[in-house]
Amino acid sequence: MPEKFDCIVVGAGPAGISCAHELAKGGANVLLLERGEYPGSKNVMGGVLYRKMMEDIIPEFYKEAPVERPIVEQRFMMMDKESAVTFGYKGLEWAQEPYNNFTVLRANFDQWFAQKAVDQGAVLVCETVVLECIVENGKVAGVRTDRPDGDIYADVVVLADGVNSLLAQKLGFHKELKPEETALATMEILKLDKKIIEDRFNLEENQGCTIELFGDATKGILGTGFLYTNKETISIGVGTLLSGMIKHKIRPYDLLEYVKNHPMIRPYIQGSEPAEYLAHLIPEGGFNSMGKIVGNGVIVIGDASQLVNAIHREGSNLAMTSGRLAAETVLLAKEAGNFSESMLSRYREKLFAGFVGQDMKKYKDSTHHFNKFPQYFEEYIPMINKAASQMFTVDGSSKWEKQKKVIRGLGSAKEKMKLARDVYKAWKVMK
Ligand SMILES: Cc1cc2nc3c(=O)[nH]c(=O)nc-3n(C[C@H](O)[C@H](O)[C@H](O)COP(=O)(O)OP(=O)(O)OC[C@H]3O[C@@H](n4cnc5c(N)ncnc54)[C@H](O)[C@@H]3O)c2cc1C
Repeated sequence: MPEKFDCIVVGAGPAGISCAHELAKGGANVLLLERGEYPGSKNVMGGVLYRKMMEDIIPEFYKEAPVERPIVEQRFMMMDKESAVTFGYKGLEWAQEPYNNFTVLRANFDQWFAQKAVDQGAVLVCETVVLECIVENGKVAGVRTDRPDGDIYADVVVLADGVNSLLAQKLGFHKELKPEETALATMEILKLDKKIIEDRFNLEENQGCTIELFGDATKGILGTGFLYTNKETISIGVGTLLSGMIKHKIRPYDLLEYVKNHPMIRPYIQGSEPAEYLAHLIPEGGFNSMGKIVGNGVIVIGDASQLVNAIHREGSNLAMTSGRLAAETVLLAKEAGNFSESMLSRYREKLFAGFVGQDMKKYKDSTHHFNKFPQYFEEYIPMINKAASQMFTVDGSSKWEKQKKVIRGLGSAKEKMKLARDVYKAWKVMK
C-alpha cells in the first residue's frame, strides 16, 4: 500500500463505490474503506436501483450485474383497514433495453459493484472502521482507523459512511440527526416460488412490479410500506419517522408484522418463507437538514449528506450521482494541485446544477409539512377509501345521489374548506 493516497473513500455503499470507481478510472490512486465483512454486508435497501445513474458509471451494467427483475409496473395503494384505493402504471417499454429500473439485493449488488471499482484499480479494504478524520493545519489530511498503525493519509477524504455520518458530525459539519428527520425502516426478504410471484403480481418472466403502501400500512403515521418482486423472493418493508414511532409507541418489528398480516397484503406473500430480516435508518430531513458537505480536503456524499428523495423513494441514485460528481471534482483538484474548500466546492456547484440538488430543493419542505399535519395519512386516506366504496357499490341509488353522499362524507362546510386548503398546501410543498 502506498503511504499516501490521492483519495480515501470511507464506506462502500453506492455513493462510495461510485466515487472510488470513477477516481480509479480517472487515474487516481484511491483507497476504499468498508467496516463490513464485504461491501453490502451491512447495507439495506427496499431494492429499486435506477438504471440511468448506474449507467453513467458502467454502461450496460445490467448485462452482467446481479439485478433481480426490471420493473414494468409501479403501483400505489392507499390503504384503510379492510380496503385500498390502488393506482399505478404498467409499461412494456420498461421490459426492454435500456429498461427503467431494477430490483436488486444489496448484499449481492454492492459486492459486484465494488469488484468493478477494484478492477479499475481502486484498493478495497474491508473490516476496517474509520474512527475519525485526521485534521492537520485546518485541512483533513487522512483517516484514523481501528487497525494497528491505522492512520492513513490522502490529499482528499470522501465521506460516504451513510446516514448519520458520525465522521462528518465529528468534523462539525452537521448535528446529530433528529427523530423528525430520520425514518426507521424494517424489511424482510421472503422466499417464494418464481412462478407464484409472476402469477400473483401478473408478470411474465423477467418482469418486476413494485407496490408502495400508504395509510393503514403505517397505521396512519407518516411513512410508507413497500412490496417489491425479486426473482425468487419478495422484499417487504415498512418505515416511519422515528418521531412517529415514539409518539405512537410503535415497535418497528410490530409494524412490519402488521403489514404482513394486513388483508390487502397477506394474499401476495402467503406461503412464503422468511429468508432475511433487516433494519436501517433513512435520512428524510431533505434539503433543510443538509449540513456542510465540503471542507478543506474533504467532501461528503450520499446518505451521509442527507441526499434522499423520500417522496420518490430515491436514494441509491442520488448516492451514485453524488459519488460520480465528487470523483470528477477530486480529479480536477488533483490536476490543479489544490485541495482547498474553495476548489472542492465545485462538487456542491455540480450537485445543485443537476437533478440531485434540484430535487432536494423541490421537496425541501415536504417531510416537515406532512409530519406537522398528520391528517393527510390519518384522515384523508380513509376518507378516499370510503368515497370509493360508496361510489363503486351498486345498490340501486342513482349516481347523483351517490355523488351527494360522497360530498356529504367530506364533512361540514368548514371541514370541506380545511380539506381544500390542505390539498392546496400539499400541492404547494410538492410543486
Ligand atoms: C429499507 C430501505 C429501503 C430503501 N429503498 C430504496 C429504494 O428502493 N431505492 C433507492 O434508491 N433507495 C432506497 N433506500 C435508500 C438507499 O438505501 C440509500 O439512499 C443508499 O443506500 C445510500 O447509499 P450510501 O452509499 O450513501 O450509503 P450506504 O448504502 O448506507 O453505505 C454506507 C457504507 O459505509 C459503511 N460505513 C459506515 N460507517 C463507516 C466507518 N466509520 N468506517 C468504514 N465504513 C463505514 C457502511 O458499512 C456502508 O457500507 C432505502 C433505504 C432503506 C433503509
